[in-house]
Amino acid sequence: MKRFLLTSFALAALSGCAEPRQVISDLPSPVMHTYAVKRAPALEAPSPAAPVKRELPIGPKTIVVDPGHGGKDPGTQGVSVLAEKEFNLLLAAELSRALTRRGAKVVPTRTTDKFVTLEHRALIARRSRADLFVSIHADWIRKRHSTGATLYIARSPSSKSIRAADCIAAAFRSSGIKCNGIRRRDFRVLVEHPQPAVLIECGYMSNWADARRLNSPAYRTRLVEAITDGVATHFTR
Ligand SMILES: [Zn+2]
Repeated sequence: MKRFLLTSFALAALSGCAEPRQVISDLPSPVMHTYAVKRAPALEAPSPAAPVKRELPIGPKTIVVDPGHGGKDPGTQGVSVLAEKEFNLLLAAELSRALTRRGAKVVPTRTTDKFVTLEHRALIARRSRADLFVSIHADWIRKRHSTGATLYIARSPSSKSIRAADCIAAAFRSSGIKCNGIRRRDFRVLVEHPQPAVLIECGYMSNWADARRLNSPAYRTRLVEAITDGVATHFTR
């Protein structure tokens, strides 16, 4: 019995990387029945306390958090309730708080629904001498079945940009968030300043399942924790 349980736990842990786990709060509410239901006995006594996750500190690093789009530029929307500019702002605000809690100095490119040019975003990265520039976006594609997060760095990236993207991708995978890997594209916010920079497309607003996840506060918190873990690993290596 014990061996069976251990094997089940090991298999459950291994299966985490391939597909995003369903967030419990996303599931539809169960139908309430009025008849009595005989409950299955618990297999094991509950553990006295859940293990406390150790948070890796980041230290006095300057991180520019850049919520994409804003104001007259809504970004994409697809089948999502939130427009991309709204999703980006919500995620960036939570990410900024998480990074600050771990000791980083956060410089946002916008904190309200306003239009900020790409040149100005790059200027903020340059002026703040950012140790890392993190741009937050959500994706759209005609192929409706595409899902998952995708990371972008410049075509000729610095070694620090590569390492930061590697660390965030690894953190996504270890927290069960589907990650399509790291792609190279010369987005202006990645190349118009010399600071290490990563652009994160957090998921596809063109896909129903992804849009539902991106609209869920619990899933956004999972994304934020994974990005923060990845950034912390990048700075401690
Ligand atoms: Zn975008």
